[in-house]
Amino acid sequence: MDAKNKIYVLPELPYAYDALKPYISEEQLRIHHDKHHAAYVAAANALLESLEKARQGNTDLDYGTVAKQLSFNTGGHRLHSLYWKNLTPVDNTGKAPKPSGEIGNAIDREFGSFDRFKKEFSQTAAKTEGSGWAVLSFCREVERPIIMQVEKHNMNVTPRRPVILVLDVWEHAYYLDYKNDRAKYVENFWNIVNWDEVGRRLADL
Ligand code: MN
Repeated sequence: MDAKNKIYVLPELPYAYDALKPYISEEQLRIHHDKHHAAYVAAANALLESLEKARQGNTDLDYGTVAKQLSFNTGGHRLHSLYWKNLTPVDNTGKAPKPSGEIGNAIDREFGSFDRFKKEFSQTAAKTEGSGWAVLSFCREVERPIIMQVEKHNMNVTPRRPVILVLDVWEHAYYLDYKNDRAKYVENFWNIVNWDEVGRRLADL
């Protein structure tokens, strides 16, 4: 018998649900992780199952729609998995974390300073229309960090341009805590960025 194909799994948060207070509340984090992220995982697995069934029964699906839904739901799963891990509880010093080492150097080289990078990334997040993400990628072709936007969750395919930092600016990520004040949520994001994780992603490229 063939081994069972693997399916997508909702990862546990790498910290407690209340660990990102006061910047992200426990209720906000629970709903975001347990409901929204879980829904993308379930939908991605349902799509894989319907693809398998169609192959076994030799029937057709609307492959245009399936591809779109796969991009949305697997993208949603991947982006949220990156997002949880590039956040970290506030440390004892109360100081906002800063990038150091290779990632710090790459940001200084590209943007001139960390403050300039924060400004560009924050404005990208603020200006993402509707639901989407601000993303810091690292393009292997030019060996430079590049800020991009993702519409909804549709990352599609970006070979040689791994994503190393993401910020969810869907309303479901902040509305309970910030209502419509996305700018405040983005400002507070800088207090809980896990730069060690971002640095590891850069080193693992
Ligand atoms: Mn989200």
